[in-house]
Amino acid sequence: MMLQDDTILQARSVNKSYQMGQTELHVLRDVSLTVKAGEFLAIMGPSGSGKSTLMHLLGALDLPDSGSVEFLGRDFLRLSSGERERARNRDIGFVFQFYHLLPELTVLENVLVPGMVGQSWLGWLKNKRRIRAEAEAVLEKMKLESRLGHRPSELSGGESQRVAIARALVGRPKLLLADEPTGNLDATTGREILAVLAELNRAGQTVVMVTHDTEVASVAHRCVHLIDGAIAGTTTDGGAR
Ligand code: ADP
Ligand code: MG
Repeated sequence: MMLQDDTILQARSVNKSYQMGQTELHVLRDVSLTVKAGEFLAIMGPSGSGKSTLMHLLGALDLPDSGSVEFLGRDFLRLSSGERERARNRDIGFVFQFYHLLPELTVLENVLVPGMVGQSWLGWLKNKRRIRAEAEAVLEKMKLESRLGHRPSELSGGESQRVAIARALVGRPKLLLADEPTGNLDATTGREILAVLAELNRAGQTVVMVTHDTEVASVAHRCVHLIDGAIAGTTTDGGAR
């Protein structure tokens, strides 16, 4: 489906609070941002500034108290929970700091899981070959073809994150959301992972990455700065590309 314009994601005046006993913690304040198709956007801010909370809202893992998040022109709040879940599973890939791989499963199985979610048993049987081929292809792209049978405990941090990226990519999501994807890695391995994300972006993948690290943010086209839950400004092109 072609869109009228190339906006993939649009947040408008998003507010989010958490109730902590008697006090209300206002975590996001009137946050607005737009993500265009093909863009690599970084959301940067110090620890506690609300980055993860914002990423959860952008990926429909949570909903705002007020304001809206529109994905491909559709407000998450106006979708049924089933439609929201489908949009999330089909069109959005997530990468987290601590990989969130399932320890009992092999590398290949970890990448197959999202393709199985939401399929009937019959649907899975019918599509198994195709989904498996796609999982293997994306693992090969992440240079993990010799690790298909390994368990997560047998992988390095960089390899684990590459498996997580492969898992996020397997359904060919329109949007890849990454929350501190290098936060648990040494500097060299972190740069490798950033290079992987930049390469995916050059190949057309839209990427939104949350980070507290200026160097990490410099691979992005554009950087939105979050301070105390509000957007403090936007900078373009870190220059490192
Ligand atoms: P960041 O990712 O930038 O470090 P977060 O979005 O995780 O920031 O958190 C922003 C603020 O919201 C922090 O003060 C944090 O303690 C608080 N917070 C986050 N999630 C919850 C929650 N589920 N319940 C209560 N407070 C939360
Ligand atoms: Mg965070």
